[in-house]
Amino acid sequence: MHLIRRNLSAAFWRLLVLSPALSSCDPAEPFLPDYESIDILIENGTVFDGLGNEPVSADVVIVDDTIVFIGDAAFTDQELEERIATRIDAGGKSVTPGFIDLHSHGDPLETPEFENFLAMGVTTISLGQDGSSPETVELRDWLDAVAQRGIGPNLAMFVGHGTLRTLSGTGLTPDPAPEELGRMLALLDETLDYTFGMSTGLEYNPGLNAKSAELRALAEVVGDHGRVVMSHMRNEDDDQLETSIAELLEQGEHARVHISHLKSVFGKGAVRANEILAILDDARNSGIGITADVYPYIASYTGIGIVFPVWAKTAEQFATARRERREELEAYLRQRVEKRNGPEATLLGTGPFTGKTLAELAFEHEMPFEDVLIDVIGPQGASGAYFVMNDELQTRLLQSPYVGVCSDGSPTGFHPRGHGTFARIIEEYVVGQHVLSLQEAVRKMTSFPAGVLGIDDRGTLLEGTKADVIVFDAANVRALATYPEPLQLAEGFEVVIVNGEIARQDGRLTDALAGRVLAPN
Ligand SMILES: [Zn+2]
Repeated sequence: MHLIRRNLSAAFWRLLVLSPALSSCDPAEPFLPDYESIDILIENGTVFDGLGNEPVSADVVIVDDTIVFIGDAAFTDQELEERIATRIDAGGKSVTPGFIDLHSHGDPLETPEFENFLAMGVTTISLGQDGSSPETVELRDWLDAVAQRGIGPNLAMFVGHGTLRTLSGTGLTPDPAPEELGRMLALLDETLDYTFGMSTGLEYNPGLNAKSAELRALAEVVGDHGRVVMSHMRNEDDDQLETSIAELLEQGEHARVHISHLKSVFGKGAVRANEILAILDDARNSGIGITADVYPYIASYTGIGIVFPVWAKTAEQFATARRERREELEAYLRQRVEKRNGPEATLLGTGPFTGKTLAELAFEHEMPFEDVLIDVIGPQGASGAYFVMNDELQTRLLQSPYVGVCSDGSPTGFHPRGHGTFARIIEEYVVGQHVLSLQEAVRKMTSFPAGVLGIDDRGTLLEGTKADVIVFDAANVRALATYPEPLQLAEGFEVVIVNGEIARQDGRLTDALAGRVLAPN
């Protein structure tokens, strides 16, 4: 156990637990500016520190990319007034750190603005998820190209375990040869110097072929760097959750571990959620640094390959299975889709199938849905939304102090989470259902993810931290994205500041591209 504890920095736990000891400011002290110019003054807002403390009425002063003062700015001197470049009146509004998305998708070289994220208050995204990062040995060059091109929000990059398998020549082999494993470990070691951790996608190829020994060996390297293993676990079905979590906890003996988009596929109720949370609490009590995130929707979204068996996922495997194991494949698909609430609960979101359920396609083609999956779509033929979760269970998970928020979304994904998640947390869970206080919701979306990523100068609104700041009135926040129209931008985040520059204001994107490719500590 001492090995485990060594990897948990004090800062990590300080950021993760509610920490009233760190107070954001003392509003009684006036600001005595000795700056030549003040870039942004946000006046009279209700300021949340991101740590979960009660908000305070205060002004926020930004110089360059840094918050230099929180309190009563009291600019009375005319000469001082003239030094303020931009004033923002935040009277009656909340001023909080920008949100940090722990699990995002998209190509920054294609859509560098990432307006879907900025519009829901997100100022930092995390890419390279689900075991998949750009397939280049020199990931650093790709990140340089991203920085060169410019990017709207900040980027925290992960290296994908599946990508390491591909680059090392391991591919789909269950047991990598010693030199293949050696290449994976060396590549991981190098890449972790400038990335935030390793992601796994154990429900996807090639990652699903990996066994425990390989994952442990990689986790050891992650732990040596003080980084985190971000995991899309092997199986999210309710009856497989315990096994999947146990596998991740093994890696947790070597490094901090984090469950991406924690969910129970076809599990139900708060009691079941409490059982899952108890497993995580027990692990934490024994010294394992485990955290998780959820997105606030009851449908998942991924490639249709998710319903195919492991022996029929790749094009090659599928062709063989179709030829030699057709009946077995039909039976598997029938049973798997029925278990996932049936073909009505699968809403396809790509190509010619967009907006149709699997049941509707079966009706159109006048064939059973399993034949549609085999003969019309195939395991690589579409992505879709799957209505497989239970609202009561997912809401209870969200309430745990060790569970944060991710969108798992992208600028183009056909699921409302990519444009709605962070707005929906406020609209639905804070204002609507009162299941979270605003300061706790803000903490989950700011200092908590910063702690998971190991970022200590963002995710809090304190003097000296980076100026990623948003201004909004919680009562006006709207997640407008829906399943039929998932690409509608969120409303209500009036000002979004990234590194001290206004990235979006009053529903309009600026041309700032003020995000940075973040470097880990
Ligand atoms: Zn995933």
